[in-house]
Amino acid sequence: MFWTRPVLFSLVICYGQLVSAQLKYSTAEEVKVGSIVGNVAKDLGLDIGTLTSRMFRLVSGAQDALFEVNPNNGLLLVHKRLDREQLCDKSAVCVMDLKIVVENPLEIHYVSVEVTDANDHAPTFAEKGKIIEIAESTLSGVRFQLPGARDPDVGMNSIQRYKLSQNDHFQLEIRDRDDDKIPFLVLQKQLDREEKVNHSLILSAIDGGTPSKSANLNVTVRVLDVNDNRPIFSNEGYSVVLKENAALGTAVIRVQATDLDEGANGEVEYDFGGDMNVEVKRLFSLDKILGVIRVDGQIDFETYNVFKLDVQASDKGQPPMTTDCRVIIKIQDVNDNKPDIEVTSITSMVPEDAKHGTVIALISITDNDSGLNGKVICSLTENVPLELKPSFKENMYSLVTKDTLDRETKSSYDISITATDCGEPALSTFKTVNIQVKDVNDNIPEFPQNPLELYLTENNEAGASVFSVSAFDKDLDDNAAISYYIVRQGGHTDMTSFLNVNSENGQISALKSFDFETLKSFQFQVVATDGGSPPLSSNVTVKVFILDQNDNAPVILYPVSTNGSAEGVEEIPRNLKAGDWVTKVRAYDADIGYSLSATATVTIKLVEPKEAFAASDIKSAAKVDEEDNVTFYLIITLGSVSLLFVISIIVLIAMQCSKSTEYTSKYLQDANYDGTLCHSIQYRSGDKRYMLVGPRMSIGSTVVPGSHANTLVLPDRRHTSGEV
Ligand code: CA
Ligand code: CA
Ligand code: CA
Ligand code: CA
Ligand code: CA
Ligand code: CA
Ligand code: CA
Repeated sequence: MFWTRPVLFSLVICYGQLVSAQLKYSTAEEVKVGSIVGNVAKDLGLDIGTLTSRMFRLVSGAQDALFEVNPNNGLLLVHKRLDREQLCDKSAVCVMDLKIVVENPLEIHYVSVEVTDANDHAPTFAEKGKIIEIAESTLSGVRFQLPGARDPDVGMNSIQRYKLSQNDHFQLEIRDRDDDKIPFLVLQKQLDREEKVNHSLILSAIDGGTPSKSANLNVTVRVLDVNDNRPIFSNEGYSVVLKENAALGTAVIRVQATDLDEGANGEVEYDFGGDMNVEVKRLFSLDKILGVIRVDGQIDFETYNVFKLDVQASDKGQPPMTTDCRVIIKIQDVNDNKPDIEVTSITSMVPEDAKHGTVIALISITDNDSGLNGKVICSLTENVPLELKPSFKENMYSLVTKDTLDRETKSSYDISITATDCGEPALSTFKTVNIQVKDVNDNIPEFPQNPLELYLTENNEAGASVFSVSAFDKDLDDNAAISYYIVRQGGHTDMTSFLNVNSENGQISALKSFDFETLKSFQFQVVATDGGSPPLSSNVTVKVFILDQNDNAPVILYPVSTNGSAEGVEEIPRNLKAGDWVTKVRAYDADIGYSLSATATVTIKLVEPKEAFAASDIKSAAKVDEEDNVTFYLIITLGSVSLLFVISIIVLIAMQCSKSTEYTSKYLQDANYDGTLCHSIQYRSGDKRYMLVGPRMSIGSTVVPGSHANTLVLPDRRHTSGEV
């Protein structure tokens, strides 16, 4: 209950005149209508007993409607609602002046009523909220003014203080300006938009009433972005494996950088670093926006097996901020290189006597690929006398001999070297190396036949070539260049002094003419020497048989004159019958075989039988060589028998030839006929050795041993000229 109370009591009495007094009361605003403000009668000191005759009333005035006075007892009452803020606005003291008239006797009294303030208003903010934008780079200590609140009350009932909600960045500072208190935000700790974009604060205005009243204002601090963050890559560095020969456009990797800033300050673009290899830039492309690195050229592991790319991310702030990042692209090998074979020949000519293990060539294998793709297995063609020996260094081999070489068997080898890598699929290379086997003098000259037989017809022309020997050497060039010489023993019996051999072609010439009748046979040796170093040689025995030539005419021995001519006359009786003995003629020939002929003239005279015995005169003429008297009689015997035999043979042959002369020409055209000697047969008679020489004999030919004559039965019908 709100009570009015007298604030001031005063009484002024003017005797004989109008009495007036000054009364002061106070009452709180907003008390109930009818509340007593003061007891005017009492305060004027009027006697209660006389009050019934007195009358109280308010003199109407500006504020009379607010109050009323009880006419009978003089109580001053609140007549209408009292609102101090309406009555007096912000005035510190609010006083209502009233005039009260008391009648019987008439008195005027001045009453002032002070309406005191009650805390009937809360502070208010003009707006519900306030937004303040502050750049994040703003330094601490900077102030930002906030809107103040209003409170119509006065004194303590008005705003006494402001309060800011708990926060990390701001403090509240109140400045008094005239009677107002003005709140300021003071930045205590620097803002970071990336940490917190909006800071929500509550500013409270509080009055001093009891109880106090307050109001809140939502203050939003919006932190404005500053480009204070670099782009940051998702990885510190990037590493990726890429197969070589990757197709153009293949996405290799995507780099990604983020920027915490806002808007353009946080918009990231990518680019290659400035000092990057031009070649790398040719091989890779980078998407500016997406950060995708793609293959843009031919990637060859063998050229580059790793790429180090610097990628730069930059925002669009002013100025922009950048970050670098390294992208390592490791290239994975693909088996795209064949092995390469390089042959360094030490010698292309290998001596055939080269020892096992002789190095012929060095083989170097390279493969540009790596790992298994570059691991190479090397092999040789089979069945060659060579092998590959691995060297201490990988992919180095030596080509060495493993078997004995023989140039005479095989003088050249085409060796195929195969190099195959271990890639998937494997790649191979072939290379052929030609190896020539160099000759070594390891073959002696060989005579195809040993001994050789030489049949040399007597009376040969001195100095003429009579024979030829030839040896063969399997070696090559000088090692096969044969020269010949005759082995000479010396001494007067050595026939080789009459022979000469052409050292180059083996032609043997006789320096003298041989005589069958003196020398029938002998032998000598020819040596063939090659030109090797050291030289090799072999020899051949040549058996020489001197062939008889008909160089002795038959000698007809009957009759023989003292001067050597044979001439005779034979007288025979007329009455001789056919088949009767006429005479005997003897002849001899030193030669053997077909005969020259000798002519003897025998004159036959027919005489009467008695004369026949009485006279006989024979004339004969013949050429006779000088002969040894020791053999004379033997020769006579032989000669006569031979002559008869020859004559009979001639007759026989003449008869045959007349039958079939066609055989002659046929025989002469025989290809096997050597033109000199067809056949020879040796036989013995006593101590002497003879040779029968004649045309080729058929199997049916026979020699009748024991005969004194040349008993050759000839199956062919060769014509022999003869004269009788
Ligand atoms: Ca008030
Ligand atoms: Ca208030
Ligand atoms: Ca920022
Ligand atoms: Ca930024
Ligand atoms: Ca490769
Ligand atoms: Ca390879
Ligand atoms: Ca050889």
